[in-house]
Amino acid sequence: MQCRIDGCNALVQARSYCWKHYQNLRRHGTPEAPKRVPVTHCKHGHEFTAANTYHRYGRRYCKRCLRNRNNAYRQRDRDEDRAWFAQHAGSSAD
Ligand SMILES: [Zn+2]
Ligand SMILES: [Zn+2]
Repeated sequence: MQCRIDGCNALVQARSYCWKHYQNLRRHGTPEAPKRVPVTHCKHGHEFTAANTYHRYGRRYCKRCLRNRNNAYRQRDRDEDRAWFAQHAGSSAD
């Protein structure tokens, strides 16, 4: 008899599971090892495609979010710029 898990061809050792899947069942309460759900989207819902993924420090970053962040910085700089000019403007020419 084979393990009842689809795709597992190992022989049954206990409770219709192979040893590995039986151990999983005992350990985790489920014969399938708990899968690490792969992160497919950044927390803003952008998909981690090859084109949209930026690798840094062993982690993945969403390029769109990085761009948004940069844009936000730039926007802030511009606002600060405008504020600075507003504050430092001399009186308009008479
Ligand atoms: Zn198995
Ligand atoms: Zn994103």
